[in-house]
Amino acid sequence: MPNCTDPLLDLKLARLSRRRLLQRFAASGTAALFLPVATRESFAQPIFTDYPFQLGVAAGDPAPDGFVIWTRLCPRPLDVEAHYGMPRQPVEVTWEVARDLRFRDIVQTGTAVAHPDLGHSVHVELIGLEPGRPYFYRFIAGRERSFMGRARTLPTPGTSLAKLRFGVVGCQHYEQGLYTAHAHLAREELDFVFCYGDYIYEGRGNDLYADWTTGEIKRSVRKSRGDEIHSLDDYRRRYAEYKMDANLMSAHAAHAWFPVWDDHEIDNNWAGNNDQDGSPPERFRLRRIMATQAYYEMMPLRKASFPVGESIQLNRRARWGNLLEMNFLDTRSYRSDQACGDDWSRYPCAGVRDPQATVLGAAQERWLLDGLNASKTRWNALAQQVMFSDFSRDAKAERINLDSWAGYAVPRERLLNHLQQQRLRNVVVLSGDEHQHYALDVKLQGGQSDSPTVLTEFVGSSMSSGGDGADLGRGGRAVWDRNPHCKLYNGQRGYLVCEVRPDAWQTDFMVLDQVSQPGGVLSRRARFQVAPDQPGAQQL
Ligand code: FE
Ligand code: CA
Repeated sequence: MPNCTDPLLDLKLARLSRRRLLQRFAASGTAALFLPVATRESFAQPIFTDYPFQLGVAAGDPAPDGFVIWTRLCPRPLDVEAHYGMPRQPVEVTWEVARDLRFRDIVQTGTAVAHPDLGHSVHVELIGLEPGRPYFYRFIAGRERSFMGRARTLPTPGTSLAKLRFGVVGCQHYEQGLYTAHAHLAREELDFVFCYGDYIYEGRGNDLYADWTTGEIKRSVRKSRGDEIHSLDDYRRRYAEYKMDANLMSAHAAHAWFPVWDDHEIDNNWAGNNDQDGSPPERFRLRRIMATQAYYEMMPLRKASFPVGESIQLNRRARWGNLLEMNFLDTRSYRSDQACGDDWSRYPCAGVRDPQATVLGAAQERWLLDGLNASKTRWNALAQQVMFSDFSRDAKAERINLDSWAGYAVPRERLLNHLQQQRLRNVVVLSGDEHQHYALDVKLQGGQSDSPTVLTEFVGSSMSSGGDGADLGRGGRAVWDRNPHCKLYNGQRGYLVCEVRPDAWQTDFMVLDQVSQPGGVLSRRARFQVAPDQPGAQQL
């Protein structure tokens, strides 16, 4: 790397043509070059030996007056040793926001600084845009330009809204399936996308995996680099690997996302400072801090979510006119450790009914209940990670997923009782994590069919995790029959499209015939509806 702060060198560089510079520094193994600087603090005219926008662009957390636009400069996204092809200096990035996709009507432009402390990521929090309309955005660094993204601002709060459509995605294991579902998602007409997490998986690269639904051992469709990830650079490289997928990039470019994380952004089934291996909490906390930084760097999050150590504000709220208020939850950061040592074979154990157990932590739980009590919208959603319903996992014995809400009986019942007592009837829970599609009536008491239905839950399957799958895999019918409150059980890959109207909440379960080869065909497996003031999923 040349010493670019040396003014003499800067001068010499300025006299060289771009081509000669590239030749000269390609020979010396330098990945990025920098022409004279605008300020001593940052480079305004970088020249890159490789395209610096290889991870694409993204928009997130839309509000009525703006949203976050994101990119990350990295000409060599997987090359940790070469600092991803970037200098250890800040670099200036210009951004443009337009009303039209040809960028003839640019309404805002500005300069942001991509800083090495944040992996040269850029988070621009736009304000002053008009509510309820699409915008286009792009970035320019040196002579390089990103492709454009599109995002919609939220409508003015309180306005009456006839319809809202959004996608629900997550669980996108890189090795177990192609991102065909993202290519389809990019083509959907949507107001936004909610990602329930498992954006990356932390495990070591594997040649083989077990199909989640059929149990068949299959060859990975592609392989992650390296061992299980632990350091900041490990996480950065893993995100880069995922984000270089063109289908995933196109899904980000097409819609603004509201991301929350689940477990695999850090470690399988983590809870607070507890990892799955029982590591000393103070040590796991260090890994959490690094994974949290990488997550912030890679997601289009607002400054309100800037991490402080391991703490990151992911629970937040958004409102679409008078129609829908969504509560995005973080069910990982504040939860108590799973009961029975997270071992299904040790169920039942006393820990499941531990009165001290928590999923959201006291502050987030209070924030959620206060928000639901005060909400004036027709529909309210809990947009979160793990299944809320009490669901029996075994056709013969009583088994629950201890990592789901069912493993935390006391806080789960506290929330259900609150909804019942306050007559909050228009609440829908959106979840992921299961790698299966489910439509469920959430009963006040367990899965008992004579108990009142308090809310409706739709669980999105996975974009790729688990492989091709099957509609009903091994023993699927028997498990389904044991859970009469379950209205749909499907083991294929896909996503949800929710259409919310004043007279109904409608959820489409979209599935792919396969994800192991290109060209997977999308179809609608089922459509469910919820009527206002009548919790419960009805198949149409
Ligand atoms: Fe997952
Ligand atoms: Ca998960």
